[in-house]
Amino acid sequence: MGEFELIECYFRAAAQGLVSQRGDVILGIGDDAALLDMPADRQLVAALDTLVEGRHFPADCAPASIGHRALAVNLSDLAAMGADPAWCLLALTLPRAEPSFLQPFSDGLLALARRYGVALVGGDTTGGPLSVSVQALGFVPPGTALRRDAGRAGDLLYVSGTPGDAAAGLALLQAAAAAGPADAQQQYLLQRFLYPEPRIELGRALRGLASACIDVSDGLVADAGKLAVASGCGAAIDAAQLPLSDALIHAVGTEQAVLHALTGGDDYELCFTVPAARRAELEARLTNVKCRVTCIGLLEKQSGLRVTRNGAAIHCDTRGYDHFRTG
Ligand code: ADP
Ligand code: MG
Repeated sequence: MGEFELIECYFRAAAQGLVSQRGDVILGIGDDAALLDMPADRQLVAALDTLVEGRHFPADCAPASIGHRALAVNLSDLAAMGADPAWCLLALTLPRAEPSFLQPFSDGLLALARRYGVALVGGDTTGGPLSVSVQALGFVPPGTALRRDAGRAGDLLYVSGTPGDAAAGLALLQAAAAAGPADAQQQYLLQRFLYPEPRIELGRALRGLASACIDVSDGLVADAGKLAVASGCGAAIDAAQLPLSDALIHAVGTEQAVLHALTGGDDYELCFTVPAARRAELEARLTNVKCRVTCIGLLEKQSGLRVTRNGAAIHCDTRGYDHFRTG
């Protein structure tokens, strides 16, 4: 199979349905670049994230999961901006053109794209060590994007879903060769790593309400810390309030579950702040959003991040993942 057939079979033809459905793709896959109709009354939101084999997913990871995650991590960035996703581009570097990889990879990516109405409109395909970059594009009404830098001391700090599950799922995946078949709770944790759900609906519901928002990819404490720094504040987190899933507690016990929730990566939940006076408004808006949110602390004037549990300080690595840190 050549490069042309590969693009035609696994990406152009497979993405055609969404392209037709959206109606705003003048030229998609096939020309030198995509030509897209922007709504006149919207700002464009653009995000790009890369997944590298051995770095962002294990070498034997299911191709469907790689496809799903490559798009999901980008849709999560759009969710954190409160954007409506519209289009994506895919840069795929792979060692061999194997249908046994390409079919489930394309299925995984496009199944998620379909659920959020995102059209794949272009990309690039090259040979080399497996690496996947996706660029996601979306819209917000002018001036309504959620940002990291507009939180204020006293704002309540929230997290969506049940952080820590994905870190436990990755640990299970890495131990899978040695372990027996996974039970239902382990399956759930694996799913949370392999097929994270971008919180698009929640991000949209937070427009015009959240004072700041970030998606949790490097660990809750690290990402909440970034939000606090960008907002010129510090933050206090009460670890006793952390929403821990039963599966996580069952798999690793409460103590480790708390640490996973605070420092584990790959959650792709949203961490956001809301002025305390608007708490009731938040609750009213969330009645239509499926994913749960939990208040876990607040922004404070004093810089730095303070994590306590039942009055005692918890010391955890607040730095998150850094590809180039040496020490
Ligand atoms: P060019 O040499 O003009 O850059 P390419 O051969 O790289 O063209 O790509 C041909 C067309 O296929 C372009 O429209 C490009 O956007 C699209 N394309 C290439 N690879 C992918 C991919 N992995 N997914 C989606 N579209 C792709
Ligand atoms: Mg090209």
